Amino acid sequence: MQYDSVQAQLIRAPRKWLVTGVAGFIGSNLLQKLLQLGQQVVGLDNFSTGHMHNLEDVRSCIPPEAWERFRLITGDIRDLETCRAACEGVDVVLHQAAIGSVPRSIDDPLTSHASNLTGFLNMLVAAKDARVENFVYASSSSVYGDEPELPKREERIGMLLSPYAATKLGNEIYAQVFARAYGFRAIGLRYFNIFGPRQDPDGAYAAVIPHWFAGLIQGTDIFINGDGETSRDFCFIDNCVQANLLAGCSTDPRALDQAYNVAVEQRTTLNELFLLIRGHVAGRFPGTAAVEPIYRDFRPGDVRHSLADIGKARKLLGYEPRYSLNEGLAHAADWYLASCASRKGSLLAA
Ligand code: NAD
Repeated sequence: MQYDSVQAQLIRAPRKWLVTGVAGFIGSNLLQKLLQLGQQVVGLDNFSTGHMHNLEDVRSCIPPEAWERFRLITGDIRDLETCRAACEGVDVVLHQAAIGSVPRSIDDPLTSHASNLTGFLNMLVAAKDARVENFVYASSSSVYGDEPELPKREERIGMLLSPYAATKLGNEIYAQVFARAYGFRAIGLRYFNIFGPRQDPDGAYAAVIPHWFAGLIQGTDIFINGDGETSRDFCFIDNCVQANLLAGCSTDPRALDQAYNVAVEQRTTLNELFLLIRGHVAGRFPGTAAVEPIYRDFRPGDVRHSLADIGKARKLLGYEPRYSLNEGLAHAADWYLASCASRKGSLLAA
């Protein structure tokens, strides 16, 4: 309900938003929703892991006049002047730009640190000086580290397991300090395995859901790290977009200067996830119904189980996820089937 009234209010009184990481998976979905709601959007991206084809995909989903309200800055958040230029005249920042992936940060901690922490601090300074109203930023469930308690509640975190997690907790610490030192209004969103259209299926650091969709559609091997009983709280992108818009528009003083879990409160093992994804793909390519995963070693830095308590976001932001895992997978399947099925090398289409 709160989401409906926030959207209606935005349509009545449009605002100017900055989305960093706009050419990435989450950023491009935020862009699409904001343009559909009649907002002005500035996007910033250095295209390190993002793609121009994500922006072209957004453009193809909206009326031409909506696209006119978007301005792209190709630039890097590691450069303070670029951040300042991007924040000019902006009401709300949705800061998504970062180097994602736990294993990537283990392989190359310096690159993750530079974008995720130095870049983040640049964005805070630029947004504060530009007197941005609300600054919403992407944190991560990785900040729970080895804390065994389930479901994860925001106030209890454990020892961190990766450089990536350290950068994300560093974001939360800096945001809190900016709130105390400068009265800056920031909200952190601890995303739990977000998935959906435009999430990159390619490369060594691809997330599991796009990787498996693409693997099944293109007929390549599907690997499960460990015994498959590792569990996650997988969250469809529209729920994540909802959380960003609610946080971006929040004026409740109790809701500001906080971090929130963004998930659906549904725990699924990798073995269960595989069966669900295979079911969606087999509806179109019956030959995949017999595909079995290959089990290999656990991955360093991965936590064993993850499940969120979303009570805090429900109470203070009015967040109410509208898509279950399987509903989200149905939407994601349509997109991956359309975008991957035609790729060269598809064994299944043959
Ligand atoms: P993504 O890689 O698709 O998007 C990140 C975008 O940021 C890319 O377009 C990339 O080019 C851009 N970027 C990276 N470094 C930059 C820099 N220095 N300057 C300018 N642009 C830069 O990843 P995503 O899944 O969309 O993730 C978005 C945010 O959400 C990230 O902060 C990520 O850490 C966080 N997050 C994502 C998940 C998830 O499940 N997808 C989970 C937890 C947290």
